[in-house]
Amino acid sequence: MLNDRRSHGLWERTAPPPSATERLARDIVADVAIVGAGYTGLSTALHLSERGLRVAVLEAVEIGYGGAGRSTGLVNAGLWVMPSVLKERLGPVYGGRILDLLRDSPRLVFEIVDKHNISCELKRAGTIHCGEGEKGAAEIRERARQWQELGAPVRVLEPEEMRAKTGTSFYPAGLLDLRAGTIQPLAYVRGLGRAAIAAGASVFTGSPVDRIAREGGVWRLTTQGGSVRAKWAVLSTDTYTSRVMPELRAQQVAVPFFHVATAPLSDNVRRTILPEGQGAFDTRTVLGAFRIDDAGRLIVGSAGALRGTGAAIHRRWALRHIRALFPQIGEVMLEHEWYGRIGMTSDHLPRFHAPAENMIAVSSYNGRGIAPGTVFGRELARHIGGDVPLEGMFLPVTSPRGTPFRAIREGYYEVGSQIAHLPPAR
Ligand SMILES: Cc1cc2nc3c(=O)[nH]c(=O)nc-3n(C[C@H](O)[C@H](O)[C@H](O)COP(=O)(O)OP(=O)(O)OC[C@H]3O[C@@H](n4cnc5c(N)ncnc54)[C@H](O)[C@@H]3O)c2cc1C
Repeated sequence: MLNDRRSHGLWERTAPPPSATERLARDIVADVAIVGAGYTGLSTALHLSERGLRVAVLEAVEIGYGGAGRSTGLVNAGLWVMPSVLKERLGPVYGGRILDLLRDSPRLVFEIVDKHNISCELKRAGTIHCGEGEKGAAEIRERARQWQELGAPVRVLEPEEMRAKTGTSFYPAGLLDLRAGTIQPLAYVRGLGRAAIAAGASVFTGSPVDRIAREGGVWRLTTQGGSVRAKWAVLSTDTYTSRVMPELRAQQVAVPFFHVATAPLSDNVRRTILPEGQGAFDTRTVLGAFRIDDAGRLIVGSAGALRGTGAAIHRRWALRHIRALFPQIGEVMLEHEWYGRIGMTSDHLPRFHAPAENMIAVSSYNGRGIAPGTVFGRELARHIGGDVPLEGMFLPVTSPRGTPFRAIREGYYEVGSQIAHLPPAR
């Protein structure tokens, strides 16, 4: 029986409370105004504040309300696509830059967690990318080859080791990536918020920005209760963008992705599933993910939205999926559920925009935003601080473009798309 219908599910239940924040209720001045309090906005705020700049973060709802507070919590290096694809799609200059920047990106997350004592169930045991079937296993071997060529500490797990490390015999091969880890994502983003505030940033929640306009050579960001005037404006609203810059969303397909979490498993079963504490995700077209939290709950995620007719379908699918992957689990109860939207682009790459003077935006992490969002935030701060010119940044500046057939593609993922991807019943 599910007893938790909160929008951030288990994460809301187990995260430390957020810092006390207020709505913006007056007109203020800052050096930099940041829209959106997720990993990107708060990492930017933290790094700018550490440089001594005056920062105001405006968040429509609450810290971590968007993807940041709903994610699986897998802190992975690189981007969703393979290293070779980055060079193919971005060319040698930007492809090389982004690889250099993100090849060890989890390290920055871990450093921030350590430096600011963020309590977020951090495990540095790596992640396992599970290959489904022969095709998935071949993809894993190719990923391993490419990362090993770049000197990354990754290796292929063959069937027996896969079974021992994951607790399922469903996947013939996996990629163990020792750079990676897992966090409680809402706890991490709240910790980032606390660190940014401690460094001097002002964070206003319940303060959606309705309008951004150029006034007297600075940006004026207006909310219902007040406004911020700032030399710089940073848009870090990604797939949860509302009210301003609809173009950021127009270039994405928002794939709904849900999680369920079981009641804490018995010690006997617990010891068989991901006993070393890695998080796992797979190579299916409709990606699946699984991990364990500190209390021993199994968390499983897949594409779909828990609303309308989709909710019951996805819950049933999740139970069947859990039993098929882990027959040793026996009777199992789901305790928590939640879902969010993952912003995908046609080439599976994030976007960097500079729509006007002293205005920048980064978005579209394609399901891998924890480490990249944290690193990009630091890089945005370096750009604003004058260390890196626009043309020296991690991605080329592009203009947002619409995605053809967006509504149709979002509808496909909404209900039941993963039914075709069930592991065979045992
Ligand atoms: C279900 C799910 C699972 C995921 N799993 C993983 C994972 O395991 N590993 C991984 O690396 N990534 C994962 N991701 C992706 C990751 O969560 C996102 O890439 C990341 O959250 C993007 O961070 P962000 O700070 O750019 O945006 P967000 O975290 O989405 O934050 C944007 C914020 O902007 C605010 N906002 C929007 N409009 C306005 C406005 N007008 N005024 C003020 N505020 C506004 C929103 O309220 C929101 O809080 C997952 C995402 C989802 C949804």
